[in-house]
Amino acid sequence: MSNDVKLLRAVDITGEPDLPAGGFSSWLRRTRNDLSAQEGADVPCGECTACCHSSYFIHIGPEETETLARIPEELLFEAPGQYEGTVLLGYGEDGQCPMLVDEKCSIYEHRPQTCRNYDCRIFPAAGIAPAEDDKALITARTRRWKFDYPGSDDRTEHAAVQAAARFLRERADCFADEIPTNAIQLSILALKVYHVFLQIHEAREESGTTPSDLDVARLVEKALAKVE
Ligand code: SF4
Repeated sequence: MSNDVKLLRAVDITGEPDLPAGGFSSWLRRTRNDLSAQEGADVPCGECTACCHSSYFIHIGPEETETLARIPEELLFEAPGQYEGTVLLGYGEDGQCPMLVDEKCSIYEHRPQTCRNYDCRIFPAAGIAPAEDDKALITARTRRWKFDYPGSDDRTEHAAVQAAARFLRERADCFADEIPTNAIQLSILALKVYHVFLQIHEAREESGTTPSDLDVARLVEKALAKVE
């Protein structure tokens, strides 16, 4: 199973109808805000449960007592490399979350914060596919999301997020610290630093100047230091 990032193919091979993902710029602002405030995403999932079938390990912090009280202890195990008391909820052999019963989350009102934060629209936003073979259902869903571009900034901002994701993926060698190859983490990183690529685009339009890749990496590192 590969965890490497792959590009999102533009074609929807499922033949399913498009899904409105919302105006890009308003989605971007809301999502950046939700990510920093850990407020949880408001995703129009409908009947979809793709992410509950996709072999995700779910981190649960020790402060999530209402959630932990509703999950049998034998389904939880220690999360490596996380702060003390954090546990992981695993998945079955078929990749399904054990708390999904009859295609419904059996602890929905008290579901983990990780599940509340998950928004599969980050993949089409960054132009990256969920990638792993066991994420086929999410890949099919992400191909159906279509953003709107109602204002003058929507397309430019979407292009900047995708430019950020591309740069992080292709020029990881320019950074002092390791750049994640995991599709979710890379997409979130692109949302956090897209404004650097917006500024580069504006400078190129105004004066024709383009910084070197090493200079871009330093600007990205500075931007990250401010938000992390
Ligand atoms: S894959 Fe996306 S649309 Fe489907 S349940 Fe998960 S977040 Fe919602």
